[in-house]
Amino acid sequence: MRYYLSLGSNLGQRARHLAQARILLQKAGVRIIKQSSVYETEPVDYLDQPWFYNQVLEVETHRSPIALLDLIKGIELKMKRRPSPDKGPRVIDIDILLAEKTVVQTSRLVVPHPRMSFRNFVMVPLAEIAPDLVHPLFHLPVAELAGMTGDSSRVRKVEEVQHLQAV
Ligand code: ADP
Ligand code: MG
Repeated sequence: MRYYLSLGSNLGQRARHLAQARILLQKAGVRIIKQSSVYETEPVDYLDQPWFYNQVLEVETHRSPIALLDLIKGIELKMKRRPSPDKGPRVIDIDILLAEKTVVQTSRLVVPHPRMSFRNFVMVPLAEIAPDLVHPLFHLPVAELAGMTGDSSRVRKVEEVQHLQAV
């Protein structure tokens, strides 16, 4: 099954943390099909914290959505993500954005991610790698949704870390 994942980090070596998350996903057999550039992004919900590095991945895995959630929670734990204030600083955050046309609504997992369309830090990198992808609930292409987030927070491509993506 094809998924889109959002990676984020705003503690320590942010580019390295994104790279480590990609490596741990691949070690678990998740195939990375496409990866966006890394973006430096202004915090949205809880403003008094460092800027994030964010990236979106298109991946392929045989796992079900809930099995993929278990895997990403395990990776967050392995990377020693500690409990932090809600929406506060974190070494790594991995979210499931989309799972093809599948809709999941459980207490542990909601897909499509309910806040994705309102966040520049998700929609700008997603539009870079999948502009024509149609959101299964809003029935609009990602490129169009990216222009109507209503989010004024700043997002800029981090050119200097591109070479680290191979690490
Ligand atoms: P944030 O909302 O900032 O990503 P967490 O990463 O701590 O916060 O996630 C809190 C919980 O959200 C997770 O433990 C998970 O069960 C739940 N959750 C619901 N939908 C999703 C999703 N699409 N992707 C990732 N986690 C999700
Ligand atoms: Mg999360």
